[in-house]
Amino acid sequence: MFIRSLLIITMFLLTATYSVKAESAPKHVALCFDDGPTTDNAPKLLAIFEREKIHVTFDYVGTNVEAHPDIAKAVVAAGHEIANHSYSHLHPKDSDNEMLEFDIVNAQKVIIEKVGYTPKWYWLPYIESDPRIPAIAEKVNLKVYKFKSLGVSDDWKAELSAEQIKQNATSNITDGTVILFHEWRNETVAEMPAIIAELKRQGCVFMTFSELAEYLANQPRN
Ligand SMILES: [Zn+2]
Repeated sequence: MFIRSLLIITMFLLTATYSVKAESAPKHVALCFDDGPTTDNAPKLLAIFEREKIHVTFDYVGTNVEAHPDIAKAVVAAGHEIANHSYSHLHPKDSDNEMLEFDIVNAQKVIIEKVGYTPKWYWLPYIESDPRIPAIAEKVNLKVYKFKSLGVSDDWKAELSAEQIKQNATSNITDGTVILFHEWRNETVAEMPAIIAELKRQGCVFMTFSELAEYLANQPRN
């Protein structure tokens, strides 16, 4: 009888320990910021990430890189990743083959020439996939970045308050989530310290696109 009780207690303790462990397992996430570089918000974001000691991914549009190459260089120097987010942010469905190829290939050329950095990933404008894109991207050694799950802050919607952006950006976050923001949205930048604090409270650790892809590739499949 005594041994049986002891066994039950031990089982209970083991189960309890296991569930606490599962709940506190870190969630690996990647924050990304679309459509820059911008002059006002990029330096503010860089200062926040330096303070928080985290690295993120900036999804750059070629025309903006041409306008602000020094900001792109500062982002790279700070250890962040840059993804190719097209030259002029066209909708693929509105682009003929030539336009689509130019949008991807010329962005890559501009980022390499102006920043001295070669992106590894193509991040789809409007998250709109198109069957022509992977082959074009491959011509310049780019891969279309595929996310396991996407956290949508919806910060491109003007009617959203700073509080709503924070709510969206910190809800339903799981291991492997990419959380999408826009660099030009002032409320996003203003809320970023609070967003990071909440994500840290939820057990998030922050990675770049490349780091997250590598982490997920090494996870056992279940
Ligand atoms: Zn975009």
